[in-house]
Amino acid sequence: MIKEIFNEYSIMITDEQERMLQVYYELLMEWNKKINLTAITEYRDVIVKHFVDSALILKSERFMGRYSASVLDIGTGAGFPGIVLAILCPKYTFTLVDSLMKRIEFLHIIKEELELHHVSLYHGRAEDLGHQQKFRNQFDFVISRAVAELPVLLEYSIPFVKKKGYFISYKGKKYKEEVELSHRALQELESEIIEIEEHSLAKGKRFLIFIENHCLTDERYPRKAGKAKKKPLY
Ligand code: SAM
Repeated sequence: MIKEIFNEYSIMITDEQERMLQVYYELLMEWNKKINLTAITEYRDVIVKHFVDSALILKSERFMGRYSASVLDIGTGAGFPGIVLAILCPKYTFTLVDSLMKRIEFLHIIKEELELHHVSLYHGRAEDLGHQQKFRNQFDFVISRAVAELPVLLEYSIPFVKKKGYFISYKGKKYKEEVELSHRALQELESEIIEIEEHSLAKGKRFLIFIENHCLTDERYPRKAGKAKKKPLY
């Protein structure tokens, strides 16, 4: 069933990946009764709106065309898109960050159950972790879905991206307004929108915004926790 749904979106997965996604689905539903992980619970909806949506980036040559790469998912929540991509893209390493400890604890269970040895999990805020040397300007790709509006997200994300690496933001149909508000953030963070991919998903659209980081980020960014959201770089 999962494989068939992925096929509808021209994403091929193996039997083993289908099994892993099924286990992930079951654990997600089980733990969702105890902690708030997702409002979407109907089987096909979870597969399409969480799993396939997370996986749409696999259609991008810019993302997939490497032998190996490091990927950071900021505000991963219940593991979207990070866990789905880790299951479908074992050649890359994945670092998943969230500021809610309970969600990171859930992800430790998933990591252990699915033996995802190429996944690392960190509890913390992007604004704090982004100043640690082991994270700063270290990742080939930073990705994020449903965490903040683009100008805020740029300040969270770009400090993690390698020089010449990419931040890829999963956005909905209102992405143009967010792009319009992002000129100053892009300038301050010395980065540039280079491509916007459009994908169909269920009855709607998913837009993947590719932003290239041109430099090592100025030490002023990210500003202290909470500031990016309170006073975005408009
Ligand atoms: N990315 C997941 C998805 O698409 O389903 C989760 C989205 S959820 C709406 C936003 C998540 O971002 C929450 O789990 C929240 O704890 C996390 N978050 C919000 N601000 C953050 C920050 N500054 N640093 C790290 N995580 C953050």
